Amino acid sequence: MQVERNIQERTPKKLLTPASGYLKGYSHTLNPYVGCAFGCSYCYVRRMPVALFRKEEWGTWVDIKRSAKESFKRELKNAKRKDPLTIFMSSSTDPYQPIEHREKITQALLETMAEEPPDFLFVQTRSPLVTRDIELFRALGKRVLISMTVETDRDDIRKAFSLAAPPIPARLKAMDTMKNAGLAVQAAVSPVLPSTEDFAKTLADHVSRVVVDDFFMGDGTGGKRTKQLGIHKLFKELDVEEWYNDKAYMKVVEDLEAYFPPDKLFISQEGFLPG
Ligand code: SF4
Repeated sequence: MQVERNIQERTPKKLLTPASGYLKGYSHTLNPYVGCAFGCSYCYVRRMPVALFRKEEWGTWVDIKRSAKESFKRELKNAKRKDPLTIFMSSSTDPYQPIEHREKITQALLETMAEEPPDFLFVQTRSPLVTRDIELFRALGKRVLISMTVETDRDDIRKAFSLAAPPIPARLKAMDTMKNAGLAVQAAVSPVLPSTEDFAKTLADHVSRVVVDDFFMGDGTGGKRTKQLGIHKLFKELDVEEWYNDKAYMKVVEDLEAYFPPDKLFISQEGFLPG
């Protein structure tokens, strides 16, 4: 697990941000933190202003967004007055990164949302810590979908691309736990990384809904941001270059088709829309 060397606190006036671009199907995004200690090598946020303006390397710093419960509650109430409130948490950080164990910022936001529920909440994470908040998700009922990133079934590949992120078996187990608790859960093969022949079956054993996305469809720039990160080099070093192209995701999709019906198998943006 990576240790953040630089932790700061912020007290933003607002926590909800109007959604745009890839997430324009939502009314708002919600990021409990700025920065992310998982520090994935392929993270497109590395190429966004929030990261480019910092001197420190992505993955080594985290800003905690502190807010008063009443002010967030008011924000939720006001947002709900206008249009349906649909929230994507989180678009540029992981709401369950290591610091959440201690700070419980995401948990506090969920507690407030349980009292003043949005119309829909999408939770995107790669951390089994999400299971800590099962009771809060249950309070939100059908308004919440939890999406667990599972880019591959090969933990050696996970380590090569995303060393500080939780191991794949722990994520699969977390999906079981949430499914057994009656929550709506999906696996997000995002981005597609090299996997084994058994990947589709493994996912089907743990979850009934899946989305597949890759660097070319899902980084918001047709793969340009990912190219700037030099990820291709890593594919080459690992001798898995055949997985770095805009058709590689099709192999995964074809395998998944044997296990998931069309209405449970999504490609790119459609799998991240409010449901
Ligand atoms: S978990 Fe998400 S936000 Fe964090 S570094 Fe990885 S890709 Fe980026």
